[in-house]
Amino acid sequence: MTNDILVEVKDLKKYFSIGNGVQLKAVDGVSFSIRRGETLGLVGESGCGKSTLGRTIIRLYEKTGGEVLVDGKDIHALKGKEVAQFNRNVQMIFQDPMASLNPRMTVADIIAEGLDIHGLNRKNRKERVEELLELVGLNKGHASRFPHEFSGGQRQRIGIARALAVEPKFIIADEPISALDVSIQAQVVNLLEDLQRDQGLTYLFIAHDLSMVKHISNRIAVMYLGKMVELAESFELYESPLHPYTEALLSAIPIPDPTIKRERIILSGDLPSPANAPSGCVFRTRCPKAMPECAESAPVWKEAKPDHWVACHLY
Ligand code: SF4
Repeated sequence: MTNDILVEVKDLKKYFSIGNGVQLKAVDGVSFSIRRGETLGLVGESGCGKSTLGRTIIRLYEKTGGEVLVDGKDIHALKGKEVAQFNRNVQMIFQDPMASLNPRMTVADIIAEGLDIHGLNRKNRKERVEELLELVGLNKGHASRFPHEFSGGQRQRIGIARALAVEPKFIIADEPISALDVSIQAQVVNLLEDLQRDQGLTYLFIAHDLSMVKHISNRIAVMYLGKMVELAESFELYESPLHPYTEALLSAIPIPDPTIKRERIILSGDLPSPANAPSGCVFRTRCPKAMPECAESAPVWKEAKPDHWVACHLY
């Protein structure tokens, strides 16, 4: 693993048993890496496995198979002090800021929870909380208040301050702006970008549509039914998508220029259940370009162009 790679995911699998010997393959053999200081956007419909992937990378779920290396270390093999260090280095920001903040704790206690757990800044706890509040655009007067006293955007800022408290290297942001008003979404994205620039953070930014990740991501990965189907630089993915699923997702994004027309690709049918995925290519039941071989074998994940990965029999 080269030194510019912070996170390397190799053939990661996370299956859930749902009774009668049936397994739900939420993440099924996913491989990719995240470079230091970059934002990797991760996109897919609800139920495609993107949140499960994030939660398996941060060890909220035990893996079923494969490997996750952070700084070259297999995170599912960590023991003792290494686990505590990992829990500092990797933090998560959740979609619903209200549900992820304890309503009975003050903002100061929420933000300082990580400091308390890791025995950091015991003497300067109050000052550190105030510094973090200012860093995310709130003020020290907010420290003694409770989560319900804030707007959705402010609560997400509290969640970000909590994540930053322990000085992480890598943040998994699981749909951090989906629950916010459109007017507030840009503010939170700008804040995350400023923090990344100032603190050298690396992000995995999970979202359910491509328009949300466009501005923040250096590269974008697309997931469908537990599989990664495409990964490329943001500009490359938007301008030259290879996978039919990515083409369909892009066709759904409105273009602000009325002189440019783009034909919307409507996918037939619903997302199949990951407990009963189609044979061969998992996208074949909805793919406008499906061929007989797509039912027979699963496409291999390959680098079709430099730094542009895809899983499709067309390439
Ligand atoms: Fe479509 Fe076949 Fe490519 Fe799957 S492998 S995306 S079904 S063309």
